[in-house]
Amino acid sequence: MKWAMVATWRMAFEGVEKASEILSVGGNSKDAIEESIKMVEDYPFYKSVGYGGLPNEHCEVELDGAFMDGDTLSFGAIGGIKDFKNPISIARKLSMERFNCFLVGKGAEEYAKQNGFEQRPMLTKRAETHYKIRKRDIEEKGLSPYDGHDTVGIIALDSLKSMTVGTSTSGLFMKKRGRVGDSPVSGSGFYVDSEVGGATATGLGEDIMKGCLSYEIVRLMAEGLSPQKAADKALNEFIRRIKAKGSKIGEISIVALNNQGEFGVATNIKNFSFVYSSEKHKTTVYVCENHEGETTYEEASEEWLEAYSKRIKEELFFD
Ligand code: ASP
Repeated sequence: MKWAMVATWRMAFEGVEKASEILSVGGNSKDAIEESIKMVEDYPFYKSVGYGGLPNEHCEVELDGAFMDGDTLSFGAIGGIKDFKNPISIARKLSMERFNCFLVGKGAEEYAKQNGFEQRPMLTKRAETHYKIRKRDIEEKGLSPYDGHDTVGIIALDSLKSMTVGTSTSGLFMKKRGRVGDSPVSGSGFYVDSEVGGATATGLGEDIMKGCLSYEIVRLMAEGLSPQKAADKALNEFIRRIKAKGSKIGEISIVALNNQGEFGVATNIKNFSFVYSSEKHKTTVYVCENHEGETTYEEASEEWLEAYSKRIKEELFFD
């Protein structure tokens, strides 16, 4: 297998499709990751990444993201950055820095400005309406502000056997100002080593960071486990440990890819979707479930895909 990509969530489909064109003509995994994630960031109807991302409790969009080069293990990451169009491109640039490669808040914004990255107000009317509805529901119905997870994480393998991983997210809806989740944290939200493979997570960052889950999956793959076995084992073992300590566990989903282009997936929710593409496999959306610790998946049906498209564009009303 020459090249392959795997990504969290249906929202990555168009980006993976575009990046597969880059990889199929010998392009590199770094460009594939930046281009695919930029597409997700730019699309206003994906409500947890980039433009249109959901805001924090003060109705401000604070974005997190990371980029890791599996050849050198160098990574760049940003946390809580406001009003820059493509966090993934800033993270990629930071991955080339020897020092100061993980910047947050004002420092990240200063760096992005100095390096000429495009600024853009990232709060959309639609995200603001989501915010108002959720705020009302929290107050009136006592709903948890922190439901659902939706970070985009993509891993790519190119024909020269280089691997790259990237993540981008607006983080937990209604989070506290300054809260940073797992997505920009190496070993938790992402990890890749071209000699082995990579993994990336989505879900409750506070829990993912307790288990350093992306690193754990790569470690298990290095011991010889397939990506599927490594993903299930890492998640099951983590859930067992957390439960044994008497703690609750949030929603967690993970995808993995080894340096042979084989993928794996693990989740503790229903309906987690992911995208896979390779030289031998057209870009496909899968939906998975967990049956007693074993994750199974099947190709998303036409109905599922149609319902998804309808849902993300549904008109929102707040009065
Ligand atoms: N993992 C992200 C975070 O905790 C949230 C998500 O995946 O939606 O910030």
